[in-house]
Amino acid sequence: MKLVAVYLLMLIKFLNRVLFKFQCFLVDRFLQNSPSDNPVSEKYRALRVDAMPIIEKRELLDYRQLLSKYLKERGKPLKPVNRRSKYLPPLGTICPICNAPYEYIYDNVGGRGQLGCKVCKSTFYPDKAYLEKLTLKCPHCGRALQKKRDRKQFFVYTCVNRCCPFYVRNLTSMSKDEKADFGKNPYKYKLHYYYRVFDVKLDSLKKDTSIPSAVDLSRIRNARYVLGLVLTYHINYGLSTRQTSSILWDVHNIKISHQTVANYAASAARVVKHYVDDYPYELSSSVSVCGDETYIKVSGKRHYVFFMMDAVKKIITSYSIFLNRDGVAAIKAIYSTLSKFKNLPEDLTLIFDGNPIYVLAQHFFAQHGIYFDVKQVIDLTNRDEVSKEYRWLKQIIERLNRTFKGVYRGKNGFNSFERANSSWLCLLLFLISCAGIRLFLIMFL
Ligand SMILES: [Zn+2]
Ligand SMILES: [Zn+2]
Repeated sequence: MKLVAVYLLMLIKFLNRVLFKFQCFLVDRFLQNSPSDNPVSEKYRALRVDAMPIIEKRELLDYRQLLSKYLKERGKPLKPVNRRSKYLPPLGTICPICNAPYEYIYDNVGGRGQLGCKVCKSTFYPDKAYLEKLTLKCPHCGRALQKKRDRKQFFVYTCVNRCCPFYVRNLTSMSKDEKADFGKNPYKYKLHYYYRVFDVKLDSLKKDTSIPSAVDLSRIRNARYVLGLVLTYHINYGLSTRQTSSILWDVHNIKISHQTVANYAASAARVVKHYVDDYPYELSSSVSVCGDETYIKVSGKRHYVFFMMDAVKKIITSYSIFLNRDGVAAIKAIYSTLSKFKNLPEDLTLIFDGNPIYVLAQHFFAQHGIYFDVKQVIDLTNRDEVSKEYRWLKQIIERLNRTFKGVYRGKNGFNSFERANSSWLCLLLFLISCAGIRLFLIMFL
């Protein structure tokens, strides 16, 4: 039996190759070969984000009807799952498609999370049931997309239709050499329509866990003006914790350790975080928010700061630090900005660089019914109309970026994620309020 399966698999592989060759022949013979602006080969593959799919609600079923249909057709009722496997689905799970009760749900992949329903024969992940209730369709041919891979933070869906205009167009854009190479190394090319669904819950974005831990500033041993001096040197003038500690001793004759400087900064960050995040900002217009990312070192490791700001009113709306420069980081940064709008403008446009993660984030929000446009200013010269129109906004955020970089250089990296976060927060408040963090804290403590 095993041998037959191996043989069949080899045959399928062979037939696939023959079909591809035949398809190439037909395309070459009857369709014009037109090199495209969107290359399909590996070096560009990561930079491409395909259009949004058509998202439809999947037709839900009723398990009672399905069970009675089974009884009518087979003359006997459908038995509940005979549980012999050591892997059991989580107690109380019901099928998201037909509502079948727990007795009909079984583990489909040996404890790795995917479950199956014996009544409607669908497979699903219990914590991602919302995805099962949707049908994603290819925007080019209208066929339902197939879930191909399950990555750490997203699922990959593709259109496997070989007559899909998107696929045919990509095929015709390939040169002869590329086609020959594709036969040998298909993984290097991206011909089919490809869509990523992020496994991030919108609700989880509301909970921000990056609140710096702190000492209680109202109970510190030093006088308040010492706290003011510490913050002025460390935040306003960008001195490192050690430099701050040493200037306080050299100039003011105050003995304070560099660790205490760090603790004060973290505590100040904790106090101001709420003001920075929840202040009722009056953001200016639908086309004024732009974003950029830059890297910093935390404990010797590369991290990324995602800035977003209202470039007209100079309000910084996102400032978080992330370990990766990926779609999830972009989603979180954009969420922080969107949450600062009292009412989201209907024609909201966000301006970024050419990084495709922002388009992925845009798709993520569209899935949740939150719509905005993304314009990408690419390269340093205005090679397209969009870059020409929005470059001035991009230049403002790049200026902000340089300011942060200037302060960061003095600090020579951060030795913990928390310290990096609290330093940013304080600096941010310093930039927002011209009076500076020292005055702010003295007013509020
Ligand atoms: Zn079901
Ligand atoms: Zn398609």
